[in-house]
Amino acid sequence: MKHNQRSRSVPNITTTPPKAATLRKRAERERRRAANQVNKNVTLSPSNQTILDEVMSYTGRRNFSALMVDLLLAYHGKVTEHKRDHACCGKCGDPYQLNGHCLFKGDSACQYSVSSDSQRALKP
Ligand SMILES: [Zn+2]
Repeated sequence: MKHNQRSRSVPNITTTPPKAATLRKRAERERRRAANQVNKNVTLSPSNQTILDEVMSYTGRRNFSALMVDLLLAYHGKVTEHKRDHACCGKCGDPYQLNGHCLFKGDSACQYSVSSDSQRALKP
């Protein structure tokens, strides 16, 4: 086959101008990239999809990303409050460390106990 014997049904991507929708999407991606924004994906089970549909329908929300940002900011407020209120173990007074240990683990006042006041306060 000679070089210029291409099938007519295949568009030549080097000379075909992009469609308006393609240009808009490209511009949006570039705008987000310039603003250092990133996309995060959420995987939902069928039952969680049903819950999401109910929440969106009941609240009249249409923008899933905006809902996620609102939930993130609300939880961030709780985490900030938690850092202030539970900076130290309620039993021994040692400062909190991720995956830390305490002799009083198991006591509800110890920050490392599964059912501690600290862990309960951190639930969303
Ligand atoms: Zn402790």
